[in-house]
Amino acid sequence: MKSKSFNPSAAFFVISAIWFFCGCKTSVKTLPAGDTIRADVVSFDPASVQAVSDAPKFIYGPQTFSRITDINALSGSRLKMLQGGDLEIQETLGSVILSNQFGGFTIPNLDYRIANGIVKPTTSKSLTMLSAIYNFDTLVGAVESLTGIPENEFFKTSADLSVIYHPAVKVTAGGEVVKKYETTNAAYLAGSNQFALFMPGREEQVAMAYNAQIIAHEFGHSIFERSFFNNKFDRCTKGNYVEQKLFPGRLEQEFTVRGLNEGFADFVSFVWTGSGNILQSSLGISPATRERNFALIGFDYDDYSYSGSDICTGGYYCLGTLWAKTLFEVYQSRGLDPKNFELRKEFLRETVQLMSEVGKSLREFDGDRLPKPDEKMSKCEVREGLSPSYDEDLLAVFFEAVIENTETSKRKGYCDAISKYFGQTAFPDSARGDCK
Ligand SMILES: [Zn+2]
Repeated sequence: MKSKSFNPSAAFFVISAIWFFCGCKTSVKTLPAGDTIRADVVSFDPASVQAVSDAPKFIYGPQTFSRITDINALSGSRLKMLQGGDLEIQETLGSVILSNQFGGFTIPNLDYRIANGIVKPTTSKSLTMLSAIYNFDTLVGAVESLTGIPENEFFKTSADLSVIYHPAVKVTAGGEVVKKYETTNAAYLAGSNQFALFMPGREEQVAMAYNAQIIAHEFGHSIFERSFFNNKFDRCTKGNYVEQKLFPGRLEQEFTVRGLNEGFADFVSFVWTGSGNILQSSLGISPATRERNFALIGFDYDDYSYSGSDICTGGYYCLGTLWAKTLFEVYQSRGLDPKNFELRKEFLRETVQLMSEVGKSLREFDGDRLPKPDEKMSKCEVREGLSPSYDEDLLAVFFEAVIENTETSKRKGYCDAISKYFGQTAFPDSARGDCK
């Protein structure tokens, strides 16, 4: 066990100051590894979400960790935090980052004291780290109830889930990617079971690094990877795939699939917190945070895809918002209460299962049902804008597979909701065969 950054004179000052000001029972020591940890963290208050469009409120106070058992290393069963190190980013697909190299991390340097058995972070950095790892701790503890996938299967191919705190970022891709990185303050590192938390931007009101809504969204990407991608997130390598419908990384890189992945992640965030207003608590009220609040959006696919439309400016995130809204509509069509956490989790378990079947359907027979790759895709180039008829063809086969893999008694809910938000344009009659 380590006692890190222990400074006797500072500790004496802290003890004296506390005795003097409050007289509460205090000891300065480190907790032995293996004890149940209770620590003061920033967490969200579920009771503050009355409507799905509400931004949750945050509370500060003691919470119990279920996974972290070593406070000095911030590690425990299936989960650990690492600090610093180098993260080489090759490409970002939304908040999913493709990275090759990470190394040089150290165990976190946490400054804290203990009062009445509760770990009290003494610097804002330590508070951020503890609060961030607390969010992952609770999500890891809930993996099976959220996904229906037993924990040992969820983690079977990977080492512990690591959360990398403030890595030094080396961007090896172009300048456009650098810009995107700056607006992505929490990210899932595809295929690696690692998450990265970057320095907060000036605009962040509640740091994304410990905002439960954002962390649940990132965790949602790891769930989508295990379900839709069958635990295998391939990278597209430059080549010439004109005649091939399915090649490694095609689905991962498609504009449409990136959007569906983002929407699924937003839906996981809703399941976790009850709120579909994903960004407002961190970034305030703005057109960009409003268009991501799927509970309130007033646009459909035609409004978004209409040439010259600026009703939604987030590119494939807009497809994601429509997909999250569609799932929410299906949830509501069954008369399920959005405030009921157990029902939300039950619905997500069904959705996770559905996504794994849909992914399988799209890949079977060498991707036979997929449209042929367009020029960019056939060379594995990333496209940042909608390519209407091409993306609509892909959406249509995705939706067709959704309906096909839904049990008959539940199909109507999906058929109605998908046609409401995607219309004939992206959900044409040819894809609705199983709706009848
Ligand atoms: Zn994301």
